[in-house]
Amino acid sequence: MMRLILLNPGPVTLSDGVRGALVRDDVCHREPEFAALTRHINARLVAIYPALAAHHAAVTLASSGTGAVEAMLATFAPDVTRTLVVANGVYGERMARMLDAHGKPHEVLAHDWCAPVDIAALRARLAADAAITHLAVVHHETTTGRLNDLAAIGALCAERGVELLLDAVSSFGAEAIEGAAWNLAALAATANKCLHGAPGLSFVIARDTLWRAPAGRRRSVYLDLHAYHAGQHGDGYSPFTLPVHVAHALDAALDELAAAGGWSARQRSYRARARRIGATLEGLGLSTLLPVADCSAVLWSWRLPPGQTYTALHDALKTAGFVIYAGQGALGPAIFRIAHMGEISEADLERLCEALVRSLGGPP
Ligand SMILES: *Cc1c(COP(=O)(O)O)cnc(C)c1O
Repeated sequence: MMRLILLNPGPVTLSDGVRGALVRDDVCHREPEFAALTRHINARLVAIYPALAAHHAAVTLASSGTGAVEAMLATFAPDVTRTLVVANGVYGERMARMLDAHGKPHEVLAHDWCAPVDIAALRARLAADAAITHLAVVHHETTTGRLNDLAAIGALCAERGVELLLDAVSSFGAEAIEGAAWNLAALAATANKCLHGAPGLSFVIARDTLWRAPAGRRRSVYLDLHAYHAGQHGDGYSPFTLPVHVAHALDAALDELAAAGGWSARQRSYRARARRIGATLEGLGLSTLLPVADCSAVLWSWRLPPGQTYTALHDALKTAGFVIYAGQGALGPAIFRIAHMGEISEADLERLCEALVRSLGGPP
């Protein structure tokens, strides 16, 4: 089969180096060499952002991104005071469902999926209710491609002493992330989005004071991150089996991220891809769902032109070697999404733009 370039929001097209690391020799997860690798990866993850390096620590677990978000909320969302969930898409709404499933007191500041976070409403809600001690928010809402305004939201958290619990699954490694300036308690992310690793490993980074605090009532065995911290930051062993091959691949992916110049260089390369694809699509008369200034570097949503179905466009592009992504919910019939992550060469981009012109440029 032809090699497919994945333009869906994870998993991403792997580099040969990362793919090669998946087939290294087998290791036992309860041998010192794997304990060392786990500690090494955890240290490298926080080092990606200087603002996290001093006062935060990572733990790694075997799950997709959703597992890391749920583990973060199960472990750190409070049992007595309340968490306010800011939702403007699928992933914000999913966090509310998780808090519900774990019986954690919460309320939702709901938005239309295409709307930016209403900072004035958020400020008013926090000011009106001292029982809200935690805020759960999605950094990059992949539903639409909106990069939520964490500078404003984080500043509000810092000003009010509200603990920020951040879904950074589709931003970690390619968008700016602050620590104390956002009063960041914890974030959740995954190996197989902006870090360009293989799927199967995710991680949570939390402030050291949270790791040291006594655990509340445990509502999950597998998702109890204190157990991961005690193991991985103790002797290096994890409470449960980690996908060892995927861990080697993540280590290789972190080498490549460092060699490429870190998160800001990756953000620049995604932006360059977005501009190149955007110029082609705008030239064909298409427009983005959101104003470009509101979009992440990672993924843009495009309105389907009249008469064009997602399925037809998807199938034509897949035949040409590219996998795009559908919209969710009510956006399904209206948009398609193109993510800019993964190993994509200039030649791939060129072929993609040609395929877009062939597929959307009208009858031949
Ligand atoms: C991809 C994604 C997730 C998690 O998805 P998984 O399929 O579980 O990896 C969570 N939040 C956001 C914002 C995402 O983009």
